[in-house]
Amino acid sequence: MAHEFRKSLIILCVVIIAMIVFIKLAFFDYPQEVIPARLIKYSLIDDKNDNNQDKSFDARLPKVKDKPVRLLFFGDMMLDRHVGEKINQYGVDYLFKKLASTTEGDFFAGYDIVSSNLEGVVTNEGEHYAPQMSYDFAFHPDLILETKNYGFNFFSLANNHFSDQGERGIIETRNNLDNLNINYTGCEDGLVGECSGKVIEINNKKIGMAGFSMVYSKLDENDVNKIVSNLASTTDLVIVNIHWGKEYEHNFNIVQQKTAHLIIDAGADIIIGHHSHVVQGIEIYDNKPIFYSLGNFIFDQYFSPDTQEGLAIGVEIENDAERYYLYPLKSKLSQVELIKEEDKESFLNKLISWSQIDSGYREQIKTGKFIISN
Ligand SMILES: [Zn+2]
Repeated sequence: MAHEFRKSLIILCVVIIAMIVFIKLAFFDYPQEVIPARLIKYSLIDDKNDNNQDKSFDARLPKVKDKPVRLLFFGDMMLDRHVGEKINQYGVDYLFKKLASTTEGDFFAGYDIVSSNLEGVVTNEGEHYAPQMSYDFAFHPDLILETKNYGFNFFSLANNHFSDQGERGIIETRNNLDNLNINYTGCEDGLVGECSGKVIEINNKKIGMAGFSMVYSKLDENDVNKIVSNLASTTDLVIVNIHWGKEYEHNFNIVQQKTAHLIIDAGADIIIGHHSHVVQGIEIYDNKPIFYSLGNFIFDQYFSPDTQEGLAIGVEIENDAERYYLYPLKSKLSQVELIKEEDKESFLNKLISWSQIDSGYREQIKTGKFIISN
């Protein structure tokens, strides 16, 4: 009898174990990659609330891909002089409306940062202050407010026109941009200081933005190195806007190149150049792109085709790769549009001829985009 009872007990145990194994396999042990993100999120929340739980639990969860960061960069934007006349006549929308309504949709849409070099100051009421100079730019804050409709939320101010309205103009620009809730970096030409760098946060990523200008004065290399390396050690990505180079010259020079390499050696990830009023070439140094000049974006230099062509750079940053999209632009009386089809092809071929890049990137650039894998 005792023998029979032990036998039944063993069979019962085997059945229970089999059921447990079956239930575990059927309901809990499916591969981790297919666990819906929502469930993972809840697991993480529960995990945080339970201090006694195994700390290695997090490490076993599949890695959730971060949301990509999307950035759009333009060259020089100047809203005074003849551009100002166009704005008075047709409004700010006149400048952007062709880009905002391309056949593929709104060119400005879907970016976390839309940025340009702002070639001039944002004074109260757009006033010009003494002394008057032959090239002397000031913009009304209302004009900058209207650029927000197109997504503009960051301006690089480090350029040779930042001091056009003196110290008063510089202070008012910063105050006005603060009031408009627009980010910016940059000190006067040749100066490097606290105003050169800023950290902004996008999709849980810290982005270090720096701006320098070396048009009439030399930059102190140690100071530049300090600003960039500080940003590099405290952020996920460092982008440097720099105003430099010879006007109307498509080929970048050795001084620009030396400075660019110094900035990348200090920890920058992307360099966006401007000032030459025409597009300059690209270089990829230590796996980091240098766009030596994006040329004019909005300007009133109607005297040549080259000063009415520019380049916009779209950047998409994900965990494993950075994608760079090249958008050649042309403008007519300061109204900007995309260069398309065979004209785009011939522009990109010109861009390649001004660049210092290997054949792999050359082939990619011909297609209007290139990828840098991390
Ligand atoms: Zn300039």
